[in-house]
Order: sequence, then C-alpha cells, then structure tokens
Amino acid sequence: MRYQNTYVKLDTRLYHKQLPNPLDNPRIGHFNNQVAEQLGWTEDVDLMARWVDILGGQYVPAEFQPLSMAYAGHQFGQWAGQLGDGRGLLMAQVLDKNNQLQDLHLKGAGLTPYSRMGDGRAVLRSTIREYLCGHALTQLGIASSNALGFVVSDTKVRRERIEAGAALMRVADSHIRLGHVEWIASFAPDLLGEFTDYMIDTYYPECRDSDTPVLAFLQAVVERTARMIADWQLIGFAHGVMNTDNLSITGSTLDFGPFGFMERFNPAWINNHSDHSGRYAYQNQPAIGHWNLNIWLPHFMRLDGVTRETLADCLAPYEATFMQHYQQGLCRKLGLPHQRESLGLAFEWLTLLEDNLLDYTNSFRALLALIAPDQHSYEQQLLATMTDELNPEAQQVWQAWSMRYLAQIQQVSITQAIEEMQTSNPIYVLRNSMAQRVIVAAEQGQFEELNRVFDLLAKPYTRQDSAIDLDTLPPAPYAPQMPISCSS
Ligand code: AMP
Ligand code: MG
Repeated sequence: MRYQNTYVKLDTRLYHKQLPNPLDNPRIGHFNNQVAEQLGWTEDVDLMARWVDILGGQYVPAEFQPLSMAYAGHQFGQWAGQLGDGRGLLMAQVLDKNNQLQDLHLKGAGLTPYSRMGDGRAVLRSTIREYLCGHALTQLGIASSNALGFVVSDTKVRRERIEAGAALMRVADSHIRLGHVEWIASFAPDLLGEFTDYMIDTYYPECRDSDTPVLAFLQAVVERTARMIADWQLIGFAHGVMNTDNLSITGSTLDFGPFGFMERFNPAWINNHSDHSGRYAYQNQPAIGHWNLNIWLPHFMRLDGVTRETLADCLAPYEATFMQHYQQGLCRKLGLPHQRESLGLAFEWLTLLEDNLLDYTNSFRALLALIAPDQHSYEQQLLATMTDELNPEAQQVWQAWSMRYLAQIQQVSITQAIEEMQTSNPIYVLRNSMAQRVIVAAEQGQFEELNRVFDLLAKPYTRQDSAIDLDTLPPAPYAPQMPISCSS
C-alpha cells in the first residue's frame, strides 16, 4: 500500500497517538475484496495473511501510525463540547488505485482519551449494520464511507445485555468532521489557519486556483454536502444522527448508527428511536444540513478575508444546489427530462405513495413495467402488488396519473428512459428487516446470510437469483416501526 500518513504530522494537540486495545480471539466476520484491491491491501502478503489480527488490534503493521482524533460537535442542536474518537483509531492513510487519499479507521478499538463514559467498543449488531450500509450506499453510487472488513470476538461488551465485541476497519476519504473545526475554535483557535490549509491542500486542492481559496473551499463543502443529502433523499436514506460530529467535510456519508432506508413512504419518518422531536426525520435532512453548515461557517471569520457577508455568499448556493440535484434525480427516476411538467408529475407521484403508504423502492421500480412491460416481468409483479394495495378512490388517482405519465414518456426516447430508470431505481436496499436477519444469524455464529445479503447489495440495480421474497418485502402498512437504538 502507498502510505501517506499526513494527519499525524499536524499539531499534536489535535490527536493522541496510541495503539488499539486487542479484542479476545478475533475471528473473521467479512472481508471486502473490492475495497482491499482498491487500497492495494491485496498486494501485501503480510496484510493479507494477518488481516484478522490487524482488525482485532493484535498486530499493528510498522507503517501504521494509529491515533485518536479530537473533535467536538453540536448534538441534537445543542453544543456538546469535546467529543473525539472514543472508540476508533485512525490507523493509517493510503493513496488508493485512483490516487485518492483514504483513511483506514478501526472502529471498536478500545478506550481513548476521548471515550468519556463509553467503553471504547462496538458490538456485533451495530458493526454489521455499519458494514452493510457503507457497502450498500457505495454500490448505489452515493458518496459514503465503506469498510475493508470486520471481525467478531469473545470480548464481552455490556449494552442492554452482554454482547460480543466486534471491530470494523472503516475506509473513508476523510474522517475530518465539521466538529473538528468546532473543537479547534473552542480549544486551540491558533490552529485554525494551519488546519484549514491542511483541509484545502488535502481534500480540495483545486480551490488553490481561486483568488480566495478559503472561501472557495467553504463553498465547495457546502455544495458537496447539499449533493450528498439530495442523494440520500432520492434513494430514501435517513441518516438518523446528523450531528455536526457525524458530517464529513468531504460530503461523504459517515457514522452509521440508527440509519434506515425508506420503506412505506412517509416523509415524516423518524428512524432513530431516541429522536423524540423528529429533528432528524427523513424530510428534515436538507434543512438540517443547512443548519449544520450555518453553525460551522462562522468559525472561519477568524481568518483573513472571511466576513459574515462572504460566508453568506458561500452558504447561499446550498438550497439551489440541493434543489437542482434532487429535482434532476427525481425526474431521472421517472425517466423524464428535467422540466416543470415532469416535476409536477413527480410530486403528484410522491403524494400518491404517501397517501397510500406504498413502498418507496418497489413503487419507483414498478414504473418500468408501465413503460416497457415486455422487458420487465419482475417489475410487473411489483406493479401488480402495488395496485392491489390501492382502494377504489386511489385506483382512480393512479389511473389518471399513469395516463398523464405515459403521455409524457411518449415525448422522450423510451430506451433512454428505461436506462435512466434502471440505473436510478434500485431493486435492493438494506431494509431494517434484512439487516436484522443477518444480525440474528451472525449472533449465532452463522455468516451465510451476511454473505448473501452482501452479494445482493453489491448489485442493487440488478435482479439476482439469490434474492428471496423477504429482501423486497416492505413491512405491513401500519406495522409498528422497529426502533433502532443509539446504543451501539
Ligand atoms: P456517535 O453517536 O456514535 O456518533 O458517537 C458520539 C460520540 O460518542 C463520539 O465521540 C464517539 O466516539 C463516542 N462514543 C460512542 N460510543 C462509544 C463507546 N462505546 N465508547 C466510547 N466512546 C463512544
Ligand atoms: Mg459519531
């Protein structure tokens, strides 16, 4: 691997150098060969032979320089002060096959100076959820952290019950969170200039071409965040804990806790059991992204040339960027050109889904059967299931809508529409029930279901023989929602 450990060269107040605390008897959970190849991990015999020991914290290769990072954050809208890597270590940074810098971060690696009341560990169930979600989003084409693999162990971890400790080697283009800057502003303000230079040179080098690199950088963070959240909305992803310490400065999805993929369409859906006010409900995500950036940006006023007015100019494009990306994506999901008529149809369609609590993923995919039934036998089943769920009144709304939709589709190239719809409407997303089945089996030492679901999510837009009905089955319309707890 081509190591490029640069974070460790920054001011020592920003991190704590330390080794992981080994897990007892670490064993294979899963290994992502594609990620390993991309990193150059597979070319190193030692890394390949000892990956379980490395993830179990038993062995640290000589080139690794593990450290825990300091950061702070706003949690649920409140200033939370210092947080930091309480259970994860940045193990190494490497240049991948695309010359993209990637962080290797071991989550579940034991106590650090930032552990506060926690035990520094991660349990198997949350490790599996994070592992599968990073994989799912990446394969769906959404900017996200992913993982090299994970191990399970005999280390006992106390949550509501005693559970098995696990560790996951997270791979992300950066682990710098909005909260890093908040920490610096509070605890080491003299470092802001150096740290901003580091963020620009490492992650946004193109901003050096601007007359005002800092402002160009800030605007780029705003735009990448807006695009990431538009992608979430389009795929029906709810992050669940959009605190400023969980948002990356690169606009990549980071920190999977009580996340979820939309099933029966309800924009007010709250996946996080602890989110009583619904702050992080699916429909609030775009506004929360803006809220987070708005609280983050003023810290840069300490730097030359950054004023309240210039910051306002950086933040202003957030909404337009989000809208452009979201609306374009929504039209694409319907196979229609990005124009006013298409958007009208799209919003009526979403209302139909909401009023009838239809499954978000299946319903979009079902539309392929409407425009090209001969080529889409699976989608015909989805369409039949969908229309069966409509009451007579809704049937009429659907009939009227589908006639107008088909009339619009006639105006465009059907081949292009099919191609757009097939590549933006997945068949498989990580439904909570799927993750749950994987977890129940894995907790009994059975990893076949994990392997199967992992392979399924590797090609989310393609029908696969290994799929079972449960992979695409939404919960009953009014089924109580399975609460996803924060204790992970
Ligand atoms: P999260 O809600 O997972 O984003 O975590 C918020 C903060 O709590 C971060 O600083 C984490 O490192 C820390 N944290 C979460 N779980 C643990 C744990 N089991 N032990 C130590 N720190 C933790
Ligand atoms: Mg976090």
